[in-house]
Amino acid sequence: MQKLAEIITTQDAETIFETIHAMVALVESDGRLVSWNSAFESCNKISPCAVNLNELFSKNDKSLLHGKLSNGLLNHWAVEFPLDGTGPSKYCDCVFIPTANGQVLFIAERMESDIALQEMIERLNRRVKLFQVESEFTKKIARNKQIEMDAVMVQASEVAQVDPLTFLVNRRTIIKELQGEVLRVERYHSMLSVSVVDVDNFKGVNDTYGHPIGDEVLKQVAYQLRESIRHPDLVGRYGGEEFLIVLPNSDSKAAAEQAARLCKQVRETVVHVKEHEVNITLSIGVAQFQVGVDTWDTLLSRADNAMYEAKNNGRDRWAIAK
Ligand code: GH3
Ligand code: MG
Ligand code: MG
Repeated sequence: MQKLAEIITTQDAETIFETIHAMVALVESDGRLVSWNSAFESCNKISPCAVNLNELFSKNDKSLLHGKLSNGLLNHWAVEFPLDGTGPSKYCDCVFIPTANGQVLFIAERMESDIALQEMIERLNRRVKLFQVESEFTKKIARNKQIEMDAVMVQASEVAQVDPLTFLVNRRTIIKELQGEVLRVERYHSMLSVSVVDVDNFKGVNDTYGHPIGDEVLKQVAYQLRESIRHPDLVGRYGGEEFLIVLPNSDSKAAAEQAARLCKQVRETVVHVKEHEVNITLSIGVAQFQVGVDTWDTLLSRADNAMYEAKNNGRDRWAIAK
């Protein structure tokens, strides 16, 4: 660079100053204008009679200008500067270069588009970041809502399957289970039985103790049934005081053994509700699925008939369907 400076003559330097787009002015340390190039001249049109550099600066920048000129240091300053009289002030990169004789070379280059663009990019980046944060937040809320909704759906579907009095699965669900088991039996030729369980003389319980006590008795009978059957058997509330037990992989003999056990257990258990002691008995009809003959509903009606047979034979007993 030093070599370049050596080669350039004063005449060359003058041509350079006149051709470059940057505004160049030589000023005294108090800002008085000494000499300037034509780029500076075009700017100086705004204040054609300006004698001091500070006349071109805004009120705010004027106060800082003096420091830049007088501190004897090479300074860069991005400052709003009136480039011509027509438009608004533009950003310029101003350089103050102290010269050997105490004067200062002032060079200003427009950089308004860069800065405006940069500011716009920064503004957009800030907005993008804000959107990202907002969208992450929204996603998080949506995820949590989805989890809540799934939990509610699971609860709702569980509630829809349960009988609210006895907490056994309801009629619709126990029949659905039965239909599923029938499909399995038909496919794999395995075994399946059902038991229709009816509480004997239950109307008498209601009549004697009242409906609420009847409800409590039903609850306790349901509890007893649920606790007495083994996996994979399933019991559901089939009707008012009727229950249905589905026994996968069981023949009628096994179902009858269970029926006998249930009859005995319920017969021997006194149901305590408040101050009352209630004795309950069951009538149970058992039926085994006959592949190629039965459907799920014929199986049920055979079991139902067997239950009525048990009733007719004196109640508190079980019967196997023909
Ligand atoms: P059977 O031995 O012939 O079965 O006599 P039963 O009295 O049990 O039969 P019936 O069909 O005449 O009466 C059933 C009674 O069960 C009548 C009905 O009010 C009662 N019941 C049905 N559902 C409920 C219930 O949820 N709560 C109460 N407390 N009673 C119920
Ligand atoms: Mg009944
Ligand atoms: Mg009954």
